[in-house]
Amino acid sequence: KKNGKNRLSFFSSDDYKENASRMELLKELRESIRNNFEGFELYYQLQVTSNGYRLKGAEALLRYHSKQRGFMSPVVFIPLLEQTELIIPVGKWVMRQAFAQCALWRKKYGDFNISINISYIQLKDKSIVQNVINAAKEAKLPGNAITLEVTESMQLQDYNYFNSMFYYWKEKGMQISIDDFGTGYSSLNMLKEAPVDEIKLDMRFLSAADPYGRAEEILHMIITMGNHMKLSIIAEGVETEQQKVMLQGFGCNKAQGYFYARPMRKAEYTELLRKEKAGN
Ligand code: C2E
Ligand code: CA
Ligand code: CA
Repeated sequence: KKNGKNRLSFFSSDDYKENASRMELLKELRESIRNNFEGFELYYQLQVTSNGYRLKGAEALLRYHSKQRGFMSPVVFIPLLEQTELIIPVGKWVMRQAFAQCALWRKKYGDFNISINISYIQLKDKSIVQNVINAAKEAKLPGNAITLEVTESMQLQDYNYFNSMFYYWKEKGMQISIDDFGTGYSSLNMLKEAPVDEIKLDMRFLSAADPYGRAEEILHMIITMGNHMKLSIIAEGVETEQQKVMLQGFGCNKAQGYFYARPMRKAEYTELLRKEKAGN
């Protein structure tokens, strides 16, 4: 049914194995959640403003240490958490951790912004509005230190609904960013219908695979449009000096990617902030 109704699906032993291993992972994830989120960890990836190397903040990215499979990327376990709506409690944990960490860094190193990811399954649940606000309050973090990265999905395109949520977040000074911009179903519609502050350019526009040589033109066009609309524009997946220079030339004011720093553990990130403050 997951692949759509009114169609035939064939069952193979590979499917069976895959399904069994998914069920096993799910069992482990549930146990972790019950065990006070044991095994979950947040990594932080630097976000910079492109005029020089000024820190802007970090994006919090979730990781999982599985007892059976070792260190795991979110692309493997997040879909599972989403299908089971376990992303809702895990997402709450992410907020609490990320906001508390950001508050700590601000105290020691000054102005700093934290971006967190919110998937459409989380957005579907109206209590997300208050959860975000409560988590910020708990951490004593001002709203303007928080960016909420949302992605669009085919399943949720009700802009009245989005606006009713964004309203409360924006009232607290939080920024809304459209993640993976340019690849969604209706990114332009979202831009037109919702009070977003930032667009996050999908990294596929920077990838080498560009059969018709159009990616650069599209990037340039989106950045120009974003600047006209006075939006913040951040490019993600910046891996080379050339990409950095090109983006700057187009007028993109923020960046994130391996070229600047990989996602890192909290201690390592703290060290980065300490060095930046010390000026070396
Ligand atoms: P995303 O939000 O689009 O995150 C960007 C992904 O690109 C991250 O993958 C990051 O590690 C990776 N990346 C950053 N710089 C570069 C680069 O220069 N080159 C390349 N090739 N990749 C780069 P990651 O950490 O594996 O996360 C994958 C996705 O999982 C995220 O995509 C996001 O959608 C989701 N995710 C991660 N953490 C959370 C979370 O706490 N909550 C929710 N709901 N989703 C999350
Ligand atoms: Ca993101
Ligand atoms: Ca993205």
